[in-house]
Amino acid sequence: PQGVIETDAVIVGAGPVGLFQVFELGLLEVKAHIIDSLAYPGGQCIELYPDKPIYDIPAVPVCTGRELTDNLLKQIEPFGATFHLGQEVSVVEKQQDGRFRVETSKGTSFLTRTLFIAAGVGAFQPRLLKIDGIEKYDGTQVFYRVKNPGDFAGKHLVIVGGGDSALDWSLNFAQEGPHRAESVILIHRRDGFRAAPASVARMHERCAAMEMQFVVGQISGIDEAGGRLTGVKVMGSDGVTRVVPLDVLLVFFGLSPKLGPIAEWGLALERKQILVDTEKFETSIPGIFAVGDINTYAGKKKLIVSGFHEAALAAFGAAPYIFPDKRIHLQYTTTSPKLHKVLGVE
Ligand code: FAD
Repeated sequence: PQGVIETDAVIVGAGPVGLFQVFELGLLEVKAHIIDSLAYPGGQCIELYPDKPIYDIPAVPVCTGRELTDNLLKQIEPFGATFHLGQEVSVVEKQQDGRFRVETSKGTSFLTRTLFIAAGVGAFQPRLLKIDGIEKYDGTQVFYRVKNPGDFAGKHLVIVGGGDSALDWSLNFAQEGPHRAESVILIHRRDGFRAAPASVARMHERCAAMEMQFVVGQISGIDEAGGRLTGVKVMGSDGVTRVVPLDVLLVFFGLSPKLGPIAEWGLALERKQILVDTEKFETSIPGIFAVGDINTYAGKKKLIVSGFHEAALAAFGAAPYIFPDKRIHLQYTTTSPKLHKVLGVE
């Protein structure tokens, strides 16, 4: 854990709305720290539909989820926000002096004057394999993400899932290279994948070349010996259960969002959304704002364009907390020399 970071603004969530919040704060000369539980920015646009087209971003006739994210990152570059990725915000507490103490799952902690919750549908977390007793092998023999591929080299791997992660990692560990596993068995409940067709074809090629195996079936139990996980029981499409031995089990069932700790920060909620006013998009706690899919108010629509508007007004709403003695005027980016300076386009 580092020391406490003192700042004017912390943004929870680096989805499209959290990213644009950096921009709107930046125009008011407020520097932000932005935190996301995912290892990369983009929120739903990157996690759920990176290659699908979006048609309703004003003045952008069409762009993919990834292009929108890349463009937002480029647009906010001048403001030098600090990203804290791969960590969930767990604690938010008001301090005596009116600031908020914010803490993440990695032990990063902040003291901030204002807080912007742009947490979308909640923190994305891996969907777990629900088998009795498997939790105790979490992080030793059962993994839901690959941090260091080298850790799995030379091992007998069983990989479960039917999406891009399951296929990409199977191929990665089956092929010649520094991370090659001793053996790779891919298990999926059906012979059909939600993944790039080219990867599926490559997987079948590798199986034909006996470099890996693909088994259709569902994991129904585990085998253990001497405190170790030694295999999984797999029920095949023929109804027969077989034991597949392993050193390591990698599970890629996708990510699902969880509201999680946000429910415990004392904010007024309505059906798991944070209630805000429509003047400043401020929550029931003064100094905490909520923007994008996470908030609710009369007429709310979960659209990116709505979140962008909310971010603009929330920035103005927050300015008095940060600059109590300054009057904030609306300026145009087209003509304001001051804004040109902050944008670095003089
Ligand atoms: P999100 O994109 O959900 O991002 C929130 C981020 O906050 C996530 O990355 C999450 O990990 C992080 N987070 C949450 N809690 C925590 C925590 N405690 N600590 C750390 N990080 C946390 N909208 C449109 O306007 N046009 C479209 O065409 C369109 N198409 C869509 C297609 C699909 C398939 C889907 C699923 C959605 C679509 N949407 C569309 C909706 C749009 O994606 C959302 O409105 C938008 O992503 C909301 O942005 P956000 O920044 O509020 O939240």
